[in-house]
Amino acid sequence: MSTFAPTLFSGKRYAVVGLGKNGLPAALGLRAMGAEVTAWDDNPASRDAASGLDLRDPAEGKFDYDALVLSPGIPHRLPKPHPAAERAIAAGVPILSDVELLFQAVRASGSRARFAGITGTNGKSTTTALLAHLLDRAGVPVAAGANLGPAALSLPLLPHHGVYVLEMSSYMLERLASVRFDAAVMLNLSADHIDRHGDMAGYAMAKRAIFDRQRSEDVAVIGVDDPACRDIAAWLDTGPARVVRISGAENAFTLGAALPGAHNAQNAAAAIAVARCFGVSDDVIAAGLLSYPGLPHRQQRIVTVDGVTFINDSKATNADAAERALVCYDRLIWIAGGMAKQGGIEPLVPLFRRIAHALLIGRDAADLAATLTRHGVPFDMVGTLEAAVPAAFAAARSENSPIVLLSPACASFDQFTGYDRRGDRFAELAGALATATVQQGGV
Ligand code: ADP
Repeated sequence: MSTFAPTLFSGKRYAVVGLGKNGLPAALGLRAMGAEVTAWDDNPASRDAASGLDLRDPAEGKFDYDALVLSPGIPHRLPKPHPAAERAIAAGVPILSDVELLFQAVRASGSRARFAGITGTNGKSTTTALLAHLLDRAGVPVAAGANLGPAALSLPLLPHHGVYVLEMSSYMLERLASVRFDAAVMLNLSADHIDRHGDMAGYAMAKRAIFDRQRSEDVAVIGVDDPACRDIAAWLDTGPARVVRISGAENAFTLGAALPGAHNAQNAAAAIAVARCFGVSDDVIAAGLLSYPGLPHRQQRIVTVDGVTFINDSKATNADAAERALVCYDRLIWIAGGMAKQGGIEPLVPLFRRIAHALLIGRDAADLAATLTRHGVPFDMVGTLEAAVPAAFAAARSENSPIVLLSPACASFDQFTGYDRRGDRFAELAGALATATVQQGGV
């Protein structure tokens, strides 16, 4: 693996707007490739973090750039275009995502490294990480990232036989010009992000762009477990790429502990399909599925103490996501709470019989408590994660439950800066409990 030449984009001029986790690496990466970069963020704090860059608002003054690189979170159409996007559209300047510029940089460097793009409503990160793991196990140089992170323009230059595995949000897909995915994956589609795409048809169209520019030597992997994707599969049949249909219901391989649940069977099926297309043998795939370590905060196994396994599913910030974790365990101690979403935990009622005891934390604990009370689920309101973890361990032992699951069904911002910090804290607390238990010589 190597870096891009410092003169690769000499003479190019880019405006980068939105200096977050994609934009800042984009601005720095383009500058390191010799481009002239004007950077901007409407938020002064983000501008402060970007000192050293040429900070100017491209919505003001002359707009003579080769492209506007707009952060995925900033709209260029709906609900309302950002002023810089309006300028770009008026000037006929393309609005691109960092993935487009990565692709251009790789090809301009003369590398024929292949590109795999993964999209869908759910499971993108897992499929991206799993595919990268399978390729890595097969000895293929691999760089994984984009929406999942690291940002596209902080990935290294790969040789001809390397593979980029990129998680693509619909926002990123709207801003591609020349990217051609050797393997493109659409996992599933359900109503989400409708505000930015107008309606379900607009959302499906944005996602479908992952297959644009594919040729006969490319592969289009499509999940067929939902009606919107089945329509897309039929449309793909009329295009040039080889179409591979995948379903979570069909899987010839055994999945490891880091891939629990039916939803992960779909993710695995997609990763397997692409790995096979890239020449990975079934033996390597089978071993890789077992050794896949999982992603942090998504049903991540932290530690087992005295027969009790602590699982961090902090990414479950709504009831829908928590449901996918709860169905995986017959009997568990549940840690939940934070800032509840509309509808609270009502959708989880059919799974309540699995909960031996619940520990509630955060701002909306009382709302969750009301639902649990109505259905006779025993619980304690403990306020914080610091109190919840030891209380959950005690409950696990007295209730004879092998699982303590943090799957909050709520946002974290009342107590943490994000779900990742909440999950990290849970892991720390569970780890401390494990150490203390060992020091006491077991329990
Ligand atoms: P994304 O990157 O698309 O948000 P992740 O891989 O991070 O997806 O998974 C996030 C959560 O989405 C998981 O914890 C699980 O609850 C749910 N999920 C994952 N894969 C799928 C799938 N194939 N179908 C439905 N839900 C899924």
